[in-house]
Amino acid sequence: MIEMQPNASHFINGAYVEDEGGAEIALTYPATGEKTGRVFAARPDMVAKAVRAAEAALPVWSAMTGAERGRILTRAAQIIRERNRDLSILETLDTGKPLSETLVADAASGADCLEYFGGMAATITGETVQLGADFAYTIREPLGVCAGIGAWNYPIQIACWKAAPALACGNTMVFKPSEETPLTALKLAEILVEAGAPPGVFNVIQGAGETGAALVDDPRVAKVSLTGSVPTGRKVYEAAARDLKHVTMELGGKSPLIIFDDANVEDAVSAAINANFYSTGQICSNGTRVFVQTGIKQAFLTRLAERTGSAVIGDPMDEATHLGPMVSEGQRGIVLNYIAKGLENGARLITGGKSIDGPGYFIEPTVFADVTDDMAIAREEIFGPVMSVLDFETEEDVTRRANDTEFGLAAGVFTRDLARAHRMVRALQAGTCWINQYNLTPIEMPFGGVKASGIGRENARAAIEAYSQPKSVYVGLSAVEAPF
Ligand code: NAD
Repeated sequence: MIEMQPNASHFINGAYVEDEGGAEIALTYPATGEKTGRVFAARPDMVAKAVRAAEAALPVWSAMTGAERGRILTRAAQIIRERNRDLSILETLDTGKPLSETLVADAASGADCLEYFGGMAATITGETVQLGADFAYTIREPLGVCAGIGAWNYPIQIACWKAAPALACGNTMVFKPSEETPLTALKLAEILVEAGAPPGVFNVIQGAGETGAALVDDPRVAKVSLTGSVPTGRKVYEAAARDLKHVTMELGGKSPLIIFDDANVEDAVSAAINANFYSTGQICSNGTRVFVQTGIKQAFLTRLAERTGSAVIGDPMDEATHLGPMVSEGQRGIVLNYIAKGLENGARLITGGKSIDGPGYFIEPTVFADVTDDMAIAREEIFGPVMSVLDFETEEDVTRRANDTEFGLAAGVFTRDLARAHRMVRALQAGTCWINQYNLTPIEMPFGGVKASGIGRENARAAIEAYSQPKSVYVGLSAVEAPF
């Protein structure tokens, strides 16, 4: 396991770089609390060096044809697939997420993304507009040096979701992973070079918020794409606005999952489990407010408790494990605090509610019923395995309550009445909605939030818009008229 650890903290201009003068960031395996390694935060010189490398690589990379760039991204996707197991183990070491998940959802989805944008790179074109005898055409140009900043829940997926469309459009990137999970972004940098990306096209620097802020502030950075919490999003958006930089903000949520009486109970329970306990609840789009119509409530809670009781919690490296630990001691503390608030506020504990004794940052998957809209567990993003079940009677009532939040990342509706389902998603204030499904985010579908949950979209063709801009060229073919 240790051999595949990257051999230095940063990856700049095609090579690993170390600077032990930066603040040390200890890496711990969340399942045991053991120290697995360390990286050093990039100091301002290192941040500047990475941005310089990205800037220097820009002319070469942006001058290549889309097909040439696409071939490199596609080759990187193949390498990721060949090394999926090793990358998954590394991701599990960093995040504590079970191998049963990382093997299928992390590096693999990053490869999907590189493949998708690799294929699309050759199709990125402008358009022509006939204007009588004259015409105009547009050139779709890259933005320049892009900064990517990641959260800790899907480290390599987030790195790929930002790098692949950015690089496909001809931009270069400096990526800063979360300080909790620094390793797999370095592997992506190595793989891109191996696949043929020129040095400097994709660079990785380590560090916490201070390093991220230095990167955002660098005047050579043209665009910032952040995945993180709403408070961080506010700071980063504000800093980027000072220089009128482009932004994409993928932020937090408190999404509703709405289950009507006529829904298939087993499917609804499956969706609620996926929407709250996958990745031990550390997913931005989780449907953590589960609104259940009263006619189905008892059947839903009974099956939910039974099935949650059968979850296998433990060693993430054992492929039979369903739930791993929280990413850190700190995050476990935050979640336990919310559970205590839920109890204090009078929510009814159906199952779970405690941390698990022994090493590692484990916590039981927890379900509260009889939750009301005003409780902290129903209003604030917890980012852990805590499901709040709320009752509702009518479509009108649940729609209003579902929208009564500052967030707007995602929403789900379970019903056999398809007219109602489509009416509901029209009314729900969310960037991504699911009907009779939850939390699937195929690369072909735009993903992102409204309201405080974010700005812009990742994935699909929408990401091309986010990493390029049209230049308009008017071509005069007739005499030039002037008033005098
Ligand atoms: P966070 O906001 O604490 O940190 C996110 C990243 O921003 C980290 O890399 C951090 O070092 C960096 N950062 C912090 N302060 C900064 C600053 N002032 N300037 C620049 N960078 C700064 O988030 P987290 O705890 O790592 O991740 C959890 C959060 O991310 C949750 O709120 C979750 O909902 C959200 N998230 C959103 C999505 C999405 O796609 N919408 C996906 C995953 C996670």
